[in-house]
Amino acid sequence: MKYIRFSHHEKVYFGELEGETVFVLDRSYFEGDCQRTGVQYNLNEVKLLTPVQPSKILCIGLNYAKHIEELGHAHHEDPVIFLKPLTTLIGPEEEIIIPSMSKQVEYEGELVVVIGKSLKNVTEAQVHDSIFGYTCGNDVTARDLQRKDGQWTRSKGFDTFCPIGPWIVTDLDPSELEIRSVLNGEVKQSSNTEYLIHTIPKLVSYISQIMTLYPGDVIMTGTPEGVGPMKAGDEISIQIEGIGGLRNIVS
Ligand code: MG
Repeated sequence: MKYIRFSHHEKVYFGELEGETVFVLDRSYFEGDCQRTGVQYNLNEVKLLTPVQPSKILCIGLNYAKHIEELGHAHHEDPVIFLKPLTTLIGPEEEIIIPSMSKQVEYEGELVVVIGKSLKNVTEAQVHDSIFGYTCGNDVTARDLQRKDGQWTRSKGFDTFCPIGPWIVTDLDPSELEIRSVLNGEVKQSSNTEYLIHTIPKLVSYISQIMTLYPGDVIMTGTPEGVGPMKAGDEISIQIEGIGGLRNIVS
């Protein structure tokens, strides 16, 4: 099933998407027992919003070997985790705004895990029940500032630096999905989630030993090789097999 959050005539709703038909739900899909209201729209009548309103955006750095090589970083035994502020979050078709502080803003296409239940200290075997679904994300990064600062808060924390969407897909096996980033129609990143160094069960279990995760929290699982710069006017699309494409314009 595909789940969306959308607006229609200025009001915000949650819905299920089947083909081009949007079935309006009576509440958030993160609350139990949500039901269809009977109202439906065509997809082209609604404006898609970020499908999540997380309490935190967790990100995994350095989780594909070839990306670690291209950045010249060392391998870490444990997952490298960091947070992006909630003000980075934007939805599909929204604008990524290049800040004047940076001369090198880059895309990072990533598979995003959406948490479905509150959880703390779960084992890898327990993780499956805790995941609501998956979506596409772009961990936009000011690469020049990342190098300069030695840590990542500023370089990954500018407003609009975390496009997520366009919808959440449930019932998806995330272990072997093609992932691509397409800049102005040209494929720039092309890899597969089978190359993730730390698997999704491991990541969720590991993070849950540090902090409580809530429904709607997201984990960006890291980007493969092929990262590169974007400039104003560019169109960037993150495409993941079984999910679809997240498209944003740079301004
Ligand atoms: Mg990243």
